[in-house]
Amino acid sequence: MTDLSATAVRLLRAVVAEGQADWPVLQRSIGTSREAMTQALVELRGLVEMADPVEPWPPLRATEAGRLRLRQIEGREPLAVVAITLDSVPDRDTDALRVAIVSDGDVVLAMDVPVTSYRLSAIREVLVDAPGSVTADMLSGAAHRIGAALLPRCAKCRLSTQDCAQCVWGHVMSRVRVAKQAGGWIRLELRVAPPWTRVPWEMATVGFGDWLVQQPELSVVRRVGSSACTPTVDGEVGILVAVAASDSQAEDQRLAADAAKIVSGTAGMANSSRSLRAVVSTGFTDAADLADRIATARPMVVHVLGHGNAEGLSHLSRADAATAIAQAGVSAVVLAPCFGASAFGTDQAGASLAWQIANLGVSAVVGFDGLAEAAHAAKFAAAFYAELAETGSVEGAVRAGRTGMASAYNQFGQVVLFAA
Ligand SMILES: [Zn+2]
Repeated sequence: MTDLSATAVRLLRAVVAEGQADWPVLQRSIGTSREAMTQALVELRGLVEMADPVEPWPPLRATEAGRLRLRQIEGREPLAVVAITLDSVPDRDTDALRVAIVSDGDVVLAMDVPVTSYRLSAIREVLVDAPGSVTADMLSGAAHRIGAALLPRCAKCRLSTQDCAQCVWGHVMSRVRVAKQAGGWIRLELRVAPPWTRVPWEMATVGFGDWLVQQPELSVVRRVGSSACTPTVDGEVGILVAVAASDSQAEDQRLAADAAKIVSGTAGMANSSRSLRAVVSTGFTDAADLADRIATARPMVVHVLGHGNAEGLSHLSRADAATAIAQAGVSAVVLAPCFGASAFGTDQAGASLAWQIANLGVSAVVGFDGLAEAAHAAKFAAAFYAELAETGSVEGAVRAGRTGMASAYNQFGQVVLFAA
């Protein structure tokens, strides 16, 4: 499958959206020259056809192959990327959160949100550290406060339903509306500075009970490095399910059963673009052992099962586990254990395991912030790999994984995707 140029993709999108469209209509909707369109049409041979070949500029329509191809492209590429940086106001340090939208390197919008780090720590405790004792009201109240800090809105859009360009909320929501109409999605990229890394931003709601990460048009990613994308996988996709040795035989058996479920679940997943092939490696004991197993299997995806805690992963420290996993040059990592995406301090050493792996260069790392219930992690894995097999997009797979986790404590909001 060859890559299409941006003009060809825009043209294909327009042809599919219009059903059957004339050249002037297409030219207006994609805003390009006739030469560029002619060139793009050559690329699109087989994907669009002429409705009436006798006309000099005949109307165009998409073929079945064209529609299918567009669905694959839509699954992999966002319509737009909106980056939000979360930083402190220097002279007031942690008393206010500075929220800024960056587009193509320019700051489009910047606002200060008065919210103390003390309050945000309390929110984190309620949502992540003690989910068992949380009522639905407490949860939605806290999540709404996080949403208000992440997407502050102005007086104008509180009063009107019109698109608003004056605040972060209006800016993001206008793009969500466009994505909804076009049947596509946008990437909401979070660049978070300490001490705000400890806040579970993925828990944010935009209205009461209206979870940001559950919107199908939004992909929420935390950007660690300077890369502009997230990985896609094609061909034979090897998955190594690496299971950490635990302290009890019962736990070892449970983890081995979870690993076997991933292998049997992915066994039939194949289409013309890719096939998944998962293998299990149980009982790794230290970082060198884990690194050896990854080096031998040479997978595209490493899926880690085990027991996570504040110190790290089973008997491995966060730093050692991160180095062992990142050295192997894998495309994506899925951390099923508890606390894989939890930060325990405000410096780099306290950064989460998932953050550390992404910081060492792995393109996409998924983990749970706080406690991860095995049943929910299993549901996430099933939906994640089904979508990965379909489109090859790790980002799309994370969106599907979140949606696939119906949970009383909204654990989908605890899933964090870090991108290098
Ligand atoms: Zn506004």
